[in-house]
Amino acid sequence: MTNFAQLGLKPEILKALDKKGYTTPSPIQASAIPPVLEGKDILAAAQTGTGKTAGFVLPIIHQLSGAPSQRNPRALIITPTRELAAQILDNIKLYSEFLSLKSMVAFGGVNIRPQIKALASGVDILVATPGRLLDLIEQGACKLSSVETLVLDEADRMLDMGFIRDIRKVVKLVPKKRQNLLFSATFSKEIRSVSEEFLNNPTIVEVAVQNATADKVKQLAYRCDNTAKTKALIQLFSDHELSQVIIFTRTKHGANRLSKNLEEAGIKSAAIHGNKSQGARTRALSDFKSQNIKALVATDIAARGIDIASLPFVVNFELPNIPEDYVHRIGRTARAGKEGTAISLVSNDERPFFSSIQKLTGNKIPLEDIDGFIPENWPDRAPTEKEVMKAAEQRKQEARKGRSGGGGGGGGNRRSGGGGRSERGGNSDRRNTRRR
Ligand code: AMP
Repeated sequence: MTNFAQLGLKPEILKALDKKGYTTPSPIQASAIPPVLEGKDILAAAQTGTGKTAGFVLPIIHQLSGAPSQRNPRALIITPTRELAAQILDNIKLYSEFLSLKSMVAFGGVNIRPQIKALASGVDILVATPGRLLDLIEQGACKLSSVETLVLDEADRMLDMGFIRDIRKVVKLVPKKRQNLLFSATFSKEIRSVSEEFLNNPTIVEVAVQNATADKVKQLAYRCDNTAKTKALIQLFSDHELSQVIIFTRTKHGANRLSKNLEEAGIKSAAIHGNKSQGARTRALSDFKSQNIKALVATDIAARGIDIASLPFVVNFELPNIPEDYVHRIGRTARAGKEGTAISLVSNDERPFFSSIQKLTGNKIPLEDIDGFIPENWPDRAPTEKEVMKAAEQRKQEARKGRSGGGGGGGGNRRSGGGGRSERGGNSDRRNTRRR
């Protein structure tokens, strides 16, 4: 497959793609679009950065534009975070510029009334986070009886965030006869079982192996004591001429603190995480995209799916204790074939996580030193499996303490305890709307 026209997409869509400057389908698009156009269910393994959004948006708008609008949505796209939902809508608007389709996004943390109003005036494509979608349904503002295509985007992340029950509720409300498209970064056992539950004889589309994104990223790692990390990072800003960078911390509290320290060092920065208001998050992201700020300090979930064209750098200020999160993090850079560098600061107590990351990605990343920041006590031997477990447990406890201490904790340990709940509330909204 060499160009979009060969996929049989409508001229209006080709015109929009041409306007955007996209001529060649990415591998996920070339594999996913034909079966979707044939009306098949698909189970697709694709990470963000592969062009997966257009992989489902293009065939959906092609199909919908060929039939008359109903009052209720004919395509429903469910996605875990607000930022991702907003980005998907941007994509839909972009690609359907020359078609007359109505699309909208619904997520929490913002007033529900304009969403109710928009739904009442009729919509073809609805992009929503699970919590707000259920709120809208419960309030009678949204009916799913006309849904022909259901997309579960970033399904693995939705499972991690505990959305499976919400998704089951939604699936009960959509017609039995429908097309299902499930996108997930990985094909875990859980994803396969969800696929068996919701999908009908899906075509498997698998173009990205787990570390495919990582392959295009130049990965650097530096030994660094925890206490010296902020100063070391500030030095890296000049050493590597860091122009625009997402910096990952494990906790929300840590993100706030680091952002403040960077500001004090003259590096324009903002933090983005689940405890920030939606307004603050949107502002931080748009300031970052418009390059008004250099550094966006983020927790894992908040940064999930953020698409920033040509983001050159990602820094792991702290390593995630879940190695897959490393892959997601560094996948923020080197997107759509561009170059990118991921820099990790590794303290001695993080070496177990560093080992797991190397095991998962299959990449041997040499640990280097930053001048002036060479740790004094650095044991020679690699950590044992037992130490890996112990360090993970310690982090879990730290995060718990942080949470009970008010405002800290969170990001890093959600799969192993309640850590995701606070992030989940912030990202997806349900509780925000309920509690008001
Ligand atoms: P996604 O994985 O959907 O988040 O897309 C990653 C980035 O690739 C986005 O900025 C898209 O706009 C861009 N993109 C999607 N499809 C193409 C394409 N066929 N050619 C070039 N860039 C693309």
